Amino acid sequence: MDYHNVLTTCPYCGAGCGLYIQVLDGEIVGVLPAKEHPVSGGKLCIKGWNATAFVRHPDRLTTPLIREGDRFREASWDEALDRVAERLAQIRDTYGPDALGFLVSAKCTNEENYLAQKLARAFFKTNNVDHCARL
Ligand code: SF4
Repeated sequence: MDYHNVLTTCPYCGAGCGLYIQVLDGEIVGVLPAKEHPVSGGKLCIKGWNATAFVRHPDRLTTPLIREGDRFREASWDEALDRVAERLAQIRDTYGPDALGFLVSAKCTNEENYLAQKLARAFFKTNNVDHCARL
């Protein structure tokens, strides 16, 4: 039997509370607050206590879906990302760069948000980039 705790950050809001995911034989079995964490100091809200509930939820999307008519079909990440890149370029070329908007997230890292605004401003030439905290 292998049991260990994995220190991580709650995925649900920008507070960034620290928690441990309890792992038993490779399966998530619970969540514990990280007492030593400088932000949360051993406390979690109800979302943090349930931070892993989505992992095995039957409604969880685990592969990209592409709409075809009234249906969705599963696609590879390469196909989905190629489709997104093509459509973004088509919209920019047809309607101009300000027809595009980019929304990022409080739960991304600073580096990920930096890259998203670089993609919007430097590559697509639009300042339409915003953040989930202002939705
Ligand atoms: S535990 Fe609650 S307050 Fe802390 S990061 Fe998660 S959602 Fe936010």
